[in-house]
Amino acid sequence: MLLPPACFGCNAHLIRGEQHLCTVCRNDLPLTDYTFNEENPIDRIFYGRINLKKASSFLFFTENGIVKQLIHHLKYKNQEQIGLFLGDWYGPILKNDNSLGEIDAVVPIPLHKKKLKKRGYNQVAKFSQRLAFHLNTEYVDHILIKTANTKTQTTKGRMGRWQGDRALYTLNDALYFKNKNVLLVDDVITSGATMEIAAKALLETEGISVHITSMAVVAQFQ
Ligand SMILES: [Zn+2]
Repeated sequence: MLLPPACFGCNAHLIRGEQHLCTVCRNDLPLTDYTFNEENPIDRIFYGRINLKKASSFLFFTENGIVKQLIHHLKYKNQEQIGLFLGDWYGPILKNDNSLGEIDAVVPIPLHKKKLKKRGYNQVAKFSQRLAFHLNTEYVDHILIKTANTKTQTTKGRMGRWQGDRALYTLNDALYFKNKNVLLVDDVITSGATMEIAAKALLETEGISVHITSMAVVAQFQ
C-alpha cells in the first residue's frame, strides 16, 4: 500500500505543492538568521580553540523540534533528499550574504569509509553540494578524510580525550587548499568538537582560511 507522503516535521499528510514539510512546519522552521558578518554565538563556541575566519549555522536544533525530526530522517531513515531541500534553502541565503566573501571550495565533514558504506551516503553531502552550487564554487569531498571509525569525543569537554588523537581527520593532499577559502560543513554543531578537529586538519594547509557552517546548531543560547 502506498501511503501519501507525510510531513517530516509533524507527520501530517502533505497536500499538493508541499514537499518534505507541511506549510505550518515550513513557517515554523527556526532559522538562526546569523550572517557571516556580525559576531554570533557560534563564533563564540570556537573562540580560543581554533583560528576560524567565521562561523554560522542555518537552523536552531531543539529537543522535540521540527529540525530534530528532519535531521533524524536524514541520518537514520534514508531520507537523503532532505539535505538537498535544506541546501536549496540555505544556499541562496549564503549567496546573498555579502560578508561571506569568495569561497573556493565547500568541504563536507567526512564519514569514515566503513560508516559511509553502512549508511550508504554522507548526510551532509547533498547539503554541501547544493551550497557549492549556489555559491558557484567547487564541492570537494576527497581531500579531507576521516581516518578512524570512532565518534568524536564530545562528552569529556574541551580538554577531553580526542586531543590525543588529532589524526581522526587528515588531508591526503597538503597543497590542494593552499591559499584557498574553504567552507567546512557539518550537520549539527553541538560542542563544536567535530568541527574543531576537522578544521585543525584543514589548517595544516599553508595560507588556507576556514569558514564553517552547519544545517543546525543546538540552541543552548537562544
Ligand atoms: Zn508539518
